[in-house]
Amino acid sequence: MKIKVDLDLCQGHSVCIAEAPEVFDVIESTDGYPQVLVLDKSPSEELYTKVRAAAKYCPNNVITLIED
Ligand code: SF4
Repeated sequence: MKIKVDLDLCQGHSVCIAEAPEVFDVIESTDGYPQVLVLDKSPSEELYTKVRAAAKYCPNNVITLIED
């Protein structure tokens, strides 16, 4: 699995961290707003359920999963 996020549409809600803290963080972007940072763009299989939940519940629907 590969993870892509659309940073233009991410609004830093941090729902992704709540679902998969091993994979997502939220940091302050250069323009001062919080934005997602993907810590692991190719997570191991045991994290797939959490990553799928993060993508499903992201309020802005900006997390795209490319399944192998
Ligand atoms: S939940 Fe979605 S919009 Fe919010 S910080 Fe994570 S990726 Fe960005």
